[in-house]
Amino acid sequence: MLKIIAIRTLIDNYIWLVLSGNNCLVIDPNNEPLITKFLRFYKLHLVAILITHNHDDHTSGVSTLKNIYQVPVYGPKETNYLNSYTIKNNNVIDVLQCKFTVLSLPGHTKYHVGYYHYPWLFCGDTLFSAGCGRIFNSSIESMFNSLNKINKLPSNTIIFPSHEYTIKNLDFIITNNITLLNNMFIIKYYRKMIKHMLLNKVPSLPTSLYLERIINPFIQCTNSFYYRNKLIKLPKNMNNFDYFKFLRNKKDVFKQG
Ligand SMILES: [Zn+2]
Repeated sequence: MLKIIAIRTLIDNYIWLVLSGNNCLVIDPNNEPLITKFLRFYKLHLVAILITHNHDDHTSGVSTLKNIYQVPVYGPKETNYLNSYTIKNNNVIDVLQCKFTVLSLPGHTKYHVGYYHYPWLFCGDTLFSAGCGRIFNSSIESMFNSLNKINKLPSNTIIFPSHEYTIKNLDFIITNNITLLNNMFIIKYYRKMIKHMLLNKVPSLPTSLYLERIINPFIQCTNSFYYRNKLIKLPKNMNNFDYFKFLRNKKDVFKQG
């Protein structure tokens, strides 16, 4: 029986730990001392490190942890300098007596990957609750295709993003009145609930694909049920990709308050 634990670090990062008995793997460790302390306190045995992409807030703890625990590191081409195994789309990682399938998810970075073990998806900085990742050294088309790929997974997929951005993302949607399904009341209610959770130090994550299809305009723009069935109201003269691009650009310059 696997369990998943979130460790919050830096300002708004989550490091995800997957546990099977006393064995565990860690995804995107950025804080070696904190992970080491956690492993010692709970007498856990680290067996592998998984990396989603080459940003410092996802990788800065990797080389020290690798040296201390002598464990394999799995990562995409862009983290070659840290990897024991460089993985690519559809590779399967056999760890904790489970199989994690690598999904190539470029867009935030060029070789960004996610790790999927039904019903869980560890998606790094690709999809956030009510939002999606910024584009760094990749393209908006790649991000669109990656979200499209995620949106083809079953609706009960549990999604584990790497950042606590939910309130900021909901504020963007509410401030700009982005309500593609005419369901702003649900979005506002959801914001209240998340605010309450965060005040009580409960993460807003993981989320589910089912929920994102209701609240997340970036996911709704991809080839979703809502889009295909014309339930989404897009501005005139814009197709779903145009609107996705428009939203991503608008979000890049969004300032609160
Ligand atoms: Zn990143």
